[in-house]
Amino acid sequence: MIIVSACLLGTKCRYDGESRSDETVLSMIPGEILIPVCPEQLGGLSTPRSPSEIVGGDGRDVLNGVARVIDKEGCDVTASFIRGAREALKIARLLNITRAVMKERSPSCGVFHIMRKGERAEGPGVASALFVQNGIEVVSSERINEYLAQYHCNRK
Ligand code: SF4
Repeated sequence: MIIVSACLLGTKCRYDGESRSDETVLSMIPGEILIPVCPEQLGGLSTPRSPSEIVGGDGRDVLNGVARVIDKEGCDVTASFIRGAREALKIARLLNITRAVMKERSPSCGVFHIMRKGERAEGPGVASALFVQNGIEVVSSERINEYLAQYHCNRK
């Protein structure tokens, strides 16, 4: 089983009420069960919702209490992001899942990058940071093909 950012599997859970369905992810590993998870919805945020950005760092800094998540209206939604990340981790532990494919550039799911003031910025989102801290292998949605190539090599 692999956790996947729910929007990549076609769930309309994004801030704008849409999905980011990704055919490569959908067909990625024959026989694997893909578990859709949306940390922002798990944190209690509504859909659609105001888009958010991490201010003062990245997802690791949010978990360490030195950065905040602020939505477009200026509301502090840090607690919801942390709650959603913890709930996502709870699902991974419940199902003994050790891998996740996460949507790059999201303030929750970004693996290598988040967005700041409309620009790509270094660092993970909150949920991906918590996954990594807890030993879950996190794969960027933008590096699926690399991951698949390695996956098939390892099975030879
Ligand atoms: Fe997709 Fe993650 Fe954003 Fe949910 S929190 S909409 S799963 S990128």
